[in-house]
Amino acid sequence: MEDKSEAITSRDHFDVVVSGASCAGLFAAEKLAKSGRKVVLFERKSSPQEPQRTWIVTDRFHSILGDSPSDVIVHETGVMRVNAGDSSASIILQPPDLIVERTALLRHLTSRAIEAGVEIRESSEVTDFSFEKDGVSLSIKDRSTDVSYKVGACDLILAGGTNCQITKSLSDVPQKVIPIVQAVVNLPEDYDPTVTEVWFERDSTTYFYWLIPDSPSTGVLGFVGESPSRARAEVHDFIRKKGFQPLSYQGAMIPLHQPLRRLEWRSSGSRVLLVGDAAAHVKVTTVGGVVSGLWGAEAAARSILRKTSYQRELMSLNMELYLHDFIRWSMDRFDQNMYEELVCMMSDSLKGFLGRRNRDSMAGGILELIARQPRVIPLGLRSIFMPYRGLDPSRPKEDSRIGKRVEEI
Ligand SMILES: Cc1cc2nc3c(=O)[nH]c(=O)nc-3n(C[C@H](O)[C@H](O)[C@H](O)COP(=O)(O)OP(=O)(O)OC[C@H]3O[C@@H](n4cnc5c(N)ncnc54)[C@H](O)[C@@H]3O)c2cc1C
Repeated sequence: MEDKSEAITSRDHFDVVVSGASCAGLFAAEKLAKSGRKVVLFERKSSPQEPQRTWIVTDRFHSILGDSPSDVIVHETGVMRVNAGDSSASIILQPPDLIVERTALLRHLTSRAIEAGVEIRESSEVTDFSFEKDGVSLSIKDRSTDVSYKVGACDLILAGGTNCQITKSLSDVPQKVIPIVQAVVNLPEDYDPTVTEVWFERDSTTYFYWLIPDSPSTGVLGFVGESPSRARAEVHDFIRKKGFQPLSYQGAMIPLHQPLRRLEWRSSGSRVLLVGDAAAHVKVTTVGGVVSGLWGAEAAARSILRKTSYQRELMSLNMELYLHDFIRWSMDRFDQNMYEELVCMMSDSLKGFLGRRNRDSMAGGILELIARQPRVIPLGLRSIFMPYRGLDPSRPKEDSRIGKRVEEI
């Protein structure tokens, strides 16, 4: 491999380098360029490689990004039906959840970033960085030509998700990850495509299964698993049990938020900040990371522009994420009966509250939640005194024909 590691020219010196052209990286880059910073964004892939996928997000998406073109929001779901055993409760969401098409969103964010003045270099991987006395020096590998070269910057934002080697090597605390697998399915003819279903099935997941309609006739049915090697088989079993036919599978390892993980490194006025999945800005109750990733990216950009502490700018996001951490910690201790109790507690008053307070704005409403259904307190207290319950290790082994590891899906 050729290495053109000569001195960095002013052409290759930037105010900010961003690595990773997904939601968080593109949005942080746009915010910085709009404020007059010279920004370059490196993406190791070339753009046509992204498979199609939809994401479910709350209405908070609009308040962070503003209006999006019609090809980005492809569908809306206004009801969330929660099921445990024979109990179920329907929550009317006001406003409804939005179903976002990933490729269209990335295209939209890319054109916004370019319009703001960001230089985007595709097929270019950030392979290393070091703090120097006048900023950050980065090694870039152009994957289309195999040529490596250096650029310099005042600040660096790492937005490379969970698979970025640089992010992995930075932290002393390894990032916790769990598998998520979902299948695209056809909806039955009598299925209401505005209803998202959630099933708590404690024997096969400490999280839940979901069916999210992403058009009037199709949806994604999936779950968060524990074992990368059996997740696909388990979702396959559930899909069959519910009478669906999987059309195709999607899956990946998702980071879990870790409150004490370091997200910022400094030297002589230069900083390296993690955003998005790289920062594990993910709600651990639902493992949704799109809105929280955009929120954290906005905080990172603000922190660089104002030269303020990143942690301070992250305060409002962290309040939400800590609450989700606590709820997750408690629910990890639930047995199936406790899930059923929880669903039975969904009075009209509580459902009304949950429908208005979406899962990206829970922190300010926790007292109101307790006032509307005080029985959540004894349920939560019971969980505190219960040990963490993993899944039963004697569960049947996966079917080897479909038991692909999540990374291979
Ligand atoms: C199957 C599935 C379904 C999901 N559904 C939802 C959902 O419904 N709602 C929701 O909110 N969230 C969902 N998520 C989570 C969501 O996809 C992630 O939280 C979100 O995509 C994270 O975006 P990101 O900007 O952090 O970066 P990522 O999407 O992780 O992308 C990182 C980018 O950085 C690039 N990169 C990495 N390293 C380097 C490097 N060294 N140099 C240059 N480029 C680099 C990569 O090529 C990639 O393009 C789902 C995830 C999966 C797997």
